[in-house]
Amino acid sequence: MRELLRVAVIGAGVVGSLIARCLTRYRCEVHIFEKEEDVGWGITKANSAVIHGGYDDPPGSVRARFCAKGNAMYSSLSEELGFELKRIGSFVLVQAPEDFPYLETLKAQALDNGLSGCAILPAQKVRDLEPHIADTVLGGFWCPSAGITEPWMVAIGAVENAVKNGARLHLSEAVTGLVTAEGSRGRRVVALKTVRGEYPIDIVINASGLWAEELSTLAGAYCPPLHPRKGEYLLFDKFDPPLVRSILFPIPSSVSKGILVLPTVDGGLLLGPTATDLPKEAREETSTTREGLSEVLYSARKLVPTLDPQWTVKTFAGLRPESPQKDFAIGKTEVEGFIQAAAMRSPGLTAAPAVAEHVVEEVLRRECGYSLESNDRFTPVNPPFVNVSNLPLEEWEKKIETDPLYGKIACVCNKVTEGDIRDAVRRGATTVDGVKFRTRASFGRCQGGFCLAKIAEILARESGRSLGEVKMRSGRTELLRGRVRE
Ligand SMILES: Cc1cc2nc3c(=O)[nH]c(=O)nc-3n(C[C@H](O)[C@H](O)[C@H](O)COP(=O)(O)OP(=O)(O)OC[C@H]3O[C@@H](n4cnc5c(N)ncnc54)[C@H](O)[C@@H]3O)c2cc1C
Repeated sequence: MRELLRVAVIGAGVVGSLIARCLTRYRCEVHIFEKEEDVGWGITKANSAVIHGGYDDPPGSVRARFCAKGNAMYSSLSEELGFELKRIGSFVLVQAPEDFPYLETLKAQALDNGLSGCAILPAQKVRDLEPHIADTVLGGFWCPSAGITEPWMVAIGAVENAVKNGARLHLSEAVTGLVTAEGSRGRRVVALKTVRGEYPIDIVINASGLWAEELSTLAGAYCPPLHPRKGEYLLFDKFDPPLVRSILFPIPSSVSKGILVLPTVDGGLLLGPTATDLPKEAREETSTTREGLSEVLYSARKLVPTLDPQWTVKTFAGLRPESPQKDFAIGKTEVEGFIQAAAMRSPGLTAAPAVAEHVVEEVLRRECGYSLESNDRFTPVNPPFVNVSNLPLEEWEKKIETDPLYGKIACVCNKVTEGDIRDAVRRGATTVDGVKFRTRASFGRCQGGFCLAKIAEILARESGRSLGEVKMRSGRTELLRGRVRE
């Protein structure tokens, strides 16, 4: 019997995770290598979280090819993988008469890309939907299919599903080398080296985000030069009723889509991002700056003047992998078996499901000619991550009857119970951040001030570790240094 094709996916961000899951639809040996202790902690962790409509990428670009398709795929994906998706719609707001022709361009591109329901609305219609926008708004381009999600949950759901369907997840296992050999069609990958050992491999998918160029060099393959472009954000507390209901874009600048104002899935309000180019080496430089945050607030207030920085619960920054082409780099390379899924700048989150399907169906099966048999046992569905406090009261009470931990609130800001946290640990969270991203515990106003100790206690109890061994995230991030009174 022929051995199964061995495929390594480098990187468990939203792109690698969805590719890995797509691969498990077929009978092959899938390995996911991730250098961090959890999935979705790279670019996927810190971005605007918008599922873009797909009307503004330059016609003919790879981004345009995959954005609208990816957007359409998100509805079924969120049902299958159990993450939240809210199609709240987006506006591009016009504040100068000379910008109206740009909206006409967007409308034409939306039609070309097969989007329905997009329209240019007059100021009053926009204001009916968004009463807090600036008086200077003259109209807006409305796209009803745009939405918001929690990008890390897409990656968590996809990896969980891939593992359920047979993939092997190697966390905290950085890929350090790629071995190639001369084949009949030139050089081809034959093995992959990690911090733990060497694996014979037939195909390597490079979905390593900001590190894609380095990984390509290890294989001797071309990747466009990448540098980080920082985006800083302000996250505001929850509003009830919400201050803003849809995603508000300004007219874009030459470098980015501009600074947006948008709700988060859990009811907060997000402002940002800036766009600051950094040198190649600064791939972990996610600090926020006074200038950056001031720029965010200044620009966001042009759209919604009443925004008050006192509502801030958190500031953070994300890094885009920018290339001179300003486009995704997807496909086979000069090294046989080494496939790029790189340079995934915005709208990479939106495009990811379509890119994943393309890599497996078009690149691997059709262009490279790998024959892949269907995996008859493939199960597309994961149980959703449920926050029991969001259930109707009677259902929540029933949950408490089955387990009293569902009645004990650990995170007061986001009403997360001890039972939810315990479930998240049993489904893969190994650190406080792992719990936070899966449950939203410590994501709220107090940012963990009140619930951190409880989360740590549950993590320690469930994983059989001492409290001193519980970590915030990867590396040396233990919460406790030792006992005070011995
Ligand atoms: C500020 C900002 C705003 C954005 N807004 C949006 C938006 O609103 N909508 C949208 O559609 N897109 C948006 N994007 C783009 C989107 O976030 C990215 O396209 C997407 O998250 C990229 O995912 P990825 O899997 O390619 O990269 P990552 O999430 O970075 O995943 C790569 C993974 O590879 C791992 N890795 C790296 N090197 C190695 C190694 N040697 N061995 C093992 N593992 C390794 C990393 O740890 C990482 O987890 C935004 C991006 C930014 C930065």
